[in-house]
Parts: sequence; structure tokens; C-alpha cells
Amino acid sequence: MRIRPRSWLFPALATATTLTVALVVVPRQLAPDDDGTPAASAAAPAAQAAPAPAGKAKPDARDVVLAVHGGAGTALSRDETSPEQEKAYRDGLARALRAGKKVLDKDGTSTRAVEKAVNVLEDDPLFNAGKGAVFTADAGHELDASIMRGSDLAAGAVAGVKHVRNPITAARLVMDKTKHVLLAGQGADDFAVQQGLKPVTQDYYWTQRRWDELMKAKGHQPVKDTTKGTVGAVAVDGKKDLSAATSTGGLTNKMAGRVGDSPVIGAGTYAKNSTVAASATGQGEVFIRGAATATISNLMEFGGKDLAKASYEVLVERLPTLGGDGGVIALDGKGTFDAPHSSEGMLHGYLTRDGKLVTKIFKDESPPNS
Ligand code: ASP
Repeated sequence: MRIRPRSWLFPALATATTLTVALVVVPRQLAPDDDGTPAASAAAPAAQAAPAPAGKAKPDARDVVLAVHGGAGTALSRDETSPEQEKAYRDGLARALRAGKKVLDKDGTSTRAVEKAVNVLEDDPLFNAGKGAVFTADAGHELDASIMRGSDLAAGAVAGVKHVRNPITAARLVMDKTKHVLLAGQGADDFAVQQGLKPVTQDYYWTQRRWDELMKAKGHQPVKDTTKGTVGAVAVDGKKDLSAATSTGGLTNKMAGRVGDSPVIGAGTYAKNSTVAASATGQGEVFIRGAATATISNLMEFGGKDLAKASYEVLVERLPTLGGDGGVIALDGKGTFDAPHSSEGMLHGYLTRDGKLVTKIFKDESPPNS
């Protein structure tokens, strides 16, 4: 095992002057008598969140076949985003949608479509997954991913991989080729190689922007959390089968060994044909404790709620009471789509059955708590 000396970080801290956007997540502490249980009803007070409007009547879009997200965080502001940056984000999301569309157009499965869409975002250095993944506290990269098929609840996931270029493909291979759901650490890296995935060195994931974010986080500087960056996709195919996929580098400056919600089925990813395909982004610990995506499905299955109400209740009303924010993309078998988020922004896009492609990156395109 390679142990990295930490002292070498300090000169870098002193000289890190090129600061771009950075991410520092300060987990809010629970009150001592708080047992961390999600609020039992939609009417429970959102103790530490901005007051949210009551309930949600309508979904964001209908007749959607595929949707992707590029992470939740502070919204991109029109004033501070150059035309080049805007184009880069929109192009990244659109490329991912087109990659998934190609699969669906050829009667491919929704599982293949979400994998291909996420592969594109993993390869795009702009997003916090694959190339461009954030740094751990000891200046490494550890990636998490999961995928789920709604027709039979098959699922696969990898956690803490260090040498896989496309973790979502490794997750799909865990689903297809093993009797397990989640492989972690060295075993997951070894499995990926055995399955023919070419390993990458840690340098592959490196980007200046993510390095600067780590330096800023280490320096405890106030930061503007422009985007947390995790990526995900949800799709429905010609057979009406739903799938969901999520891939991430996790949180900047996370402890080595920390695993977030993205590879946890029922937290960051869930798909069930009779309810929903959902992929989440945000403060992973809260999504795990609140069983976020499984709860959306359960509210639909056992609570009789529709997709918009169920996903809104979890993201806007329940999770903020646990002290964290984020968002989700959610799709049902009829093509009903919603993207509620308690974070200021969430980059996302969707494709409708008749080929309309929509991307939303600015706050006015996708306001928080809506
Ligand atoms: N949910 C991810 C994690 O906690 C981070 C993110 O969505 O940005 O690992």
C-alpha cells in the first residue's frame, strides 16, 4: 500500500494562488437528542433549511426518455459565467444525452443507455467523476459508482476505486458478472482489470481546478461551492424498463476510505420499474442516512404519491432536516421527470421521446426547492 507523506502538502498550500471554484462541505451537527431519523411526515419542519414551499403539484417535464445530472451546488450565475464556460457545461450534458440516445435509438436497454451517458461525463474533466474527480484529504483520488436495473432490481457498485477510468462500467460488470452488489477498494480495482478494463494511474484523474479546490479546502478559505459535480443518469427504454446510474469522485478533502452515497443502492441510486429511476447528488452522508432514492420509491409504492410529490418530499422537506443539501433526477416508466434540489443549483439535462434536448445550468432555469 502506498502511504503518502502529508508534510509535502504545506509548501503547495502556501503557493497555491490560482484559485478557481472550490468545494468545502461543513456538515452541520445534529442536536444531541436528535437520533438522525428522517422526519416522519411531509409536514415536519425543515429545521436548518430555507423555508420550502408546501408540496409540489407538477413534474418538471413529461415524455422524457433519458436525463443526466452533473452535480448539485451553488447555482452557476449568468453574470459570472463566460459564454465559453456556459457552452462547455451545456455541451458536456448534451454529449452525454446524445450518447445515451444512440443506445435507445437502436433499441438498446436503459441500463446500457445510462452507462454510456455516464461514461461521457466521467471522461469530461469538467465533472467530478472519472477524469476531473476531486481529491481526498491525502491528495489521492477514490471513486464510487453504482448502477441499477428496474426490471429485476439487479444492481452493481464499486467504492473507493483508484485505478478505474470509468467506474460506472466496473459497477455494471459487478452487476452482470458477479453474484455480489458492491465491491470496494483493491478488490474492486483488481476485478475491473480482470474484466478487461485498462487501469489508469492516479495522475489520470488530475486537473488543476480540483487541485486548487483541495488547496483552498486545506487552507480553510471561504469558498463558493459552484458545483459538487457528481454525475448520474436515468432512462426508460422501449420495453418500459427503467435504469439509474451514478458516478463520483466524492467530496473534496474527504478522508481516505470515506464512501459516500453514490455507490450505495437506495441512497445515491435506485431503480424499480413500478416506481422510479433516481440518481442523487449532494452531501452523501445525509443521502445515506435518509435512504434518499429508496425513500422516493417507497413513498410512491407504499405512500401512493406520484413522482413529483415523492421526490420533492425527500429532497426538499426531509433531507434538509438531516443537515445536508443536494438534488436528484427522477424518472418514472411513463416518462414523468423531475429534478428537485435543495442546493442552490443542480446541473442537469433531459431528452424527450420526440428528440427535444434540454439543458439547465443556471438558477433561473432550475430554481432551488422547486
Ligand atoms: N454525493 C456525493 C458524495 O457524497 C457528492 C456529490 O454529489 O457531489 O460522495
